[in-house]
Amino acid sequence: MAGKTVSRRQFLKHAGATAALLGLSEVMIPQIAQALEELASGKPPVIWIQGQNCTGCSISLLNSNYPMVAELVLNDLSIRYHPNVMAAAGYTATDVLDESIKDLKGKYVLVVEGPVPTKEDGEFCTFGLQKGKTKDLMGNKVPADKTIHEWMKELVPPAAAVIAGGNCASFGGIPLANAGVTGATPVSKIVAEIDSEKPVVNIGGCPAHPDWITGTVLEALLFLKGKGKLNLNSHKMSRTFFGQLIHENCERRASFDAGLFLEDWNQDDPDMKLCMFKMGCKGPVTYADCPVRRWNSKVNWCVGASAPCHGCASPDFYKTLSPLYEPLPNVNFPGITPAVDTLGWVAAGATAVGVGAHYLYKQLGHKGEETGEGGEK
Ligand code: SF4
Ligand code: SF4
Repeated sequence: MAGKTVSRRQFLKHAGATAALLGLSEVMIPQIAQALEELASGKPPVIWIQGQNCTGCSISLLNSNYPMVAELVLNDLSIRYHPNVMAAAGYTATDVLDESIKDLKGKYVLVVEGPVPTKEDGEFCTFGLQKGKTKDLMGNKVPADKTIHEWMKELVPPAAAVIAGGNCASFGGIPLANAGVTGATPVSKIVAEIDSEKPVVNIGGCPAHPDWITGTVLEALLFLKGKGKLNLNSHKMSRTFFGQLIHENCERRASFDAGLFLEDWNQDDPDMKLCMFKMGCKGPVTYADCPVRRWNSKVNWCVGASAPCHGCASPDFYKTLSPLYEPLPNVNFPGITPAVDTLGWVAAGATAVGVGAHYLYKQLGHKGEETGEGGEK
């Protein structure tokens, strides 16, 4: 995973791709190129560990729309540890973590994928062994497993910043919903218990879009180098990617405004234009740039493929936003009408709709945040 030399020409390509990724103008390319050159010359290390996860966010990252930027992050910025892409195994791999803790104080960014299980002493998620410690297993002394919670206690204090990669790491996601058997805990909560001053950035998504991951890591690295700013909402998510409601940019918004809703999955909708609010779309309460960024190299996105947005980028995913195919509950448009089944004609007024989108957000418990991008500070 060592870094490699990158030519000036390649760097300018990286810079152009980075500008596109971060939604910046091309006139920013020279400044971005300079910042990236400085970054790469210092090779800021990134350490990526995994908790109670499905590895979906790592797989998503490997499918990056911007392979040049992903290459930059994966190679040039020196990812020192990643369970899925590193060649090393066993102590050779975990020794890198021990060395980083000892030698790279304040220099590396720690990315955590998946929440941290805390019940049963965290034994639901372990990697590596505790050197010099043993435990009893069926009467035999065997080397003791090391839980991700224990790794976090060692890796967080020397880290320059921590990034929670994906909804599960950021907000608990599916592991935290309903069952709660493992005590899955969002990364930011664990970090706050270890070091309340440590900067944490959350990335939504289940999985996270590869651009959200690459872009957030880049934003954090540039910020730590004093070359950029971290513009976060109150959920510690980058406004570059989570600054606008899905509903505001949705290609079916005109149907919502006109009260034209899909009411049944067998309904005839040959042009795929009917709004899917009544089929469970959570776009009106989810902040993410999916309609404009799109997925799979910009081929399509959920609503474009006739699937309602499930709100996977939202801090309320999965527990509060489920069932996935049921409309948002208790939808009241202030001063207009209470019922979802009368939404069609109610929503025809543009003012009511504009108020309604933010009102829905507020109704999910985000008090005082209805005018902000996922919540203003
Ligand atoms: S409710 Fe969903 S499908 Fe309808 S306009 Fe909003 S985001 Fe698009
Ligand atoms: S459209 Fe909604 S469910 Fe689909 S990826 Fe974006 S935030 Fe997640």
